[in-house]
Amino acid sequence: MSDIIRLLPDSVANQIAAGEVIQRPASVIKELVENSIDAGADNVTIVLKDAGRTLIQVIDNGSGMSDTDARLAFERHATSKIKSADDLFTLRTMGFRGEALASIAAIAQLDVRTMLHGASIGTRLIINGSKVESQNPEAAAPGTNIMVKNIFYNVPARRKFLKKDSVELSNILREFERLALVNINTDLTLIHNDTTLHALRRASFKQRIGDLFGKSVEKQLIPVETDTSIVRISGFVSLPENARKRNALQYLMVNGRNMLHPYFRKAILQCYDRLITPEEQPNFFINLQVDPETIDVNIHPTKNEIKFENEQAIWQILTAAVKDSLGRFNAAPAIDFDVEDAPEIPVFNPTEGIKLNEELDPSYNPFATADKPRRSDDSPAVFRSSRINSGAPTDWEKLYDDFSRKRDEAIDEVVGSRINDEIAVQHGPVPSFANMADDSGEALPAASTMQLKNTYILTPSRKGLMVIDQYRAHVRILYDRYMSMIDEKSFVAQQVMFPEMIQLSAAQNVTLETIMPYLEKLGFTLSPLGDNSWSILSMPTVVSGKSGAEIITGIISVVEETGEDIASSFYRQVSLSMARSNAIHRGRALTSAEMETLVSDLFKSSAPARTPEGKQVFSVIDIENINSLF
Ligand code: ADP
Ligand code: MG
Repeated sequence: MSDIIRLLPDSVANQIAAGEVIQRPASVIKELVENSIDAGADNVTIVLKDAGRTLIQVIDNGSGMSDTDARLAFERHATSKIKSADDLFTLRTMGFRGEALASIAAIAQLDVRTMLHGASIGTRLIINGSKVESQNPEAAAPGTNIMVKNIFYNVPARRKFLKKDSVELSNILREFERLALVNINTDLTLIHNDTTLHALRRASFKQRIGDLFGKSVEKQLIPVETDTSIVRISGFVSLPENARKRNALQYLMVNGRNMLHPYFRKAILQCYDRLITPEEQPNFFINLQVDPETIDVNIHPTKNEIKFENEQAIWQILTAAVKDSLGRFNAAPAIDFDVEDAPEIPVFNPTEGIKLNEELDPSYNPFATADKPRRSDDSPAVFRSSRINSGAPTDWEKLYDDFSRKRDEAIDEVVGSRINDEIAVQHGPVPSFANMADDSGEALPAASTMQLKNTYILTPSRKGLMVIDQYRAHVRILYDRYMSMIDEKSFVAQQVMFPEMIQLSAAQNVTLETIMPYLEKLGFTLSPLGDNSWSILSMPTVVSGKSGAEIITGIISVVEETGEDIASSFYRQVSLSMARSNAIHRGRALTSAEMETLVSDLFKSSAPARTPEGKQVFSVIDIENINSLF
């Protein structure tokens, strides 16, 4: 038998190795900007064309490179940053593997100019797919200017996997945000297709957060600060009332490096345990400063995962620091239905229930519009009579409560089966309404519901005692309602008397532009004011009287999270986001009339057993189980 093993040519080996470091344009930006920072730059400009597909250019005013270094820099394992394995333990630079430039050179066409400070002439290198085409002396500015053209031009399989420009650009923006947060002393500019998306000047950490994510985010921050022999913690967290249902901004950094650290993230989230609902998440921007010898950054090629020597001690210090800040800023528990030792008060009597809940407006009835004609024009009155004061500013509670219900045609079969299919893919088969009825859900005797802890509705069913999660049930009902309204195109636009302004981040703006046609179909009209600002001229009548800015940023978050903008999924997402926002919360007392309507609406919905996200809506405690108690 003949020999079959061959050594791969360098170019192929480089392309394969590149796959580990460079997955998409955003990874090129990360590597190049980190090199600029390592080279001491305090001014870095990124220029992109077509979301980085055709051009990624990074210009810095760092040290620059000599002719020889410039040439060597693109060889694999060429680095000026470590000399031996021991250096890994005292790392103070972002790079250290000497892989990035070689990887980028393997999968793109490069045009590099660089000059040392104080030199009289610089050098220019042209490299195509690892092959140095030319190197010549050339006048240059001190620093380094690298153009990466046509990423993956020689790796069609990978080029094919680049996502739509809007998605790649949004990845780039996320990466830029992370880089900007750990390099607050650097001026950073990001230009895409001749539009400046960011022009950040050096700033305090807090200002930088504001520059990146908007002044409203900045205003909601409270400082976290502590200094111990193991770790120095500094940064900001958001107040519980500013927690988000979607896309919370959560950043953990160690020694100026972004990291993913689920354990420390959990430590922070735990501090909010009884302060926010399980659906919400706080923003946080936390820096840890530790002795470099006590961490290992060499654990993952993209260097995001970091191993700590003192993990448990840091957990405790971190939790104490965050709790202390929340305490000092008076973030007293706002939600108490989870508190273990609170007395259990089942609400038999609806009037009593109302007294228990200070936030409750006795005239509120989420189901009051049952008999109103559809597209009713009397929405202001409905809002007035039914408005409740929920406290939390981000609360869209009852946003859409003037939706008239169409009880007789409640289940749109088409919508229903579509949703079921979707859930089946994600969560396995879901019982349909038909077999649910058999099981448990069938007609429930009137006036037989009670509420437990203002959260669960208890009601007898043929098989035993049914326990329904009121929030999830309402999400399911509202979701179906909104989906059928979209199907029937029954969203009606209404001009806004005093147009509201909405200021978006650059990333949000990109998303907004991709979903604009769909928003317009729902009845939103936005006019651009420049600088990522918009004026909201019209909104669907169903949301009249509510903050358009809040609704639109909510929709943007949902779309960003899923990264899709095709019509059907967009409408599903919008319906889901509206339903989640508008559903009655856990912790709200309900009258028995409300509970009964909720239960009967639930079992008219397309898939009563599950929320559109596939979460369980109710459970039945078997009669046998109950018998066995006695
Ligand atoms: P690493 O950053 O891990 O050392 P890279 O492949 O990213 O590896 O870079 C190789 C080397 O090229 C660096 O160690 C540094 O000496 C040099 N270099 C890269 N980018 C720059 C830059 N923008 N300015 C100055 N030197 C640079
Ligand atoms: Mg590097």
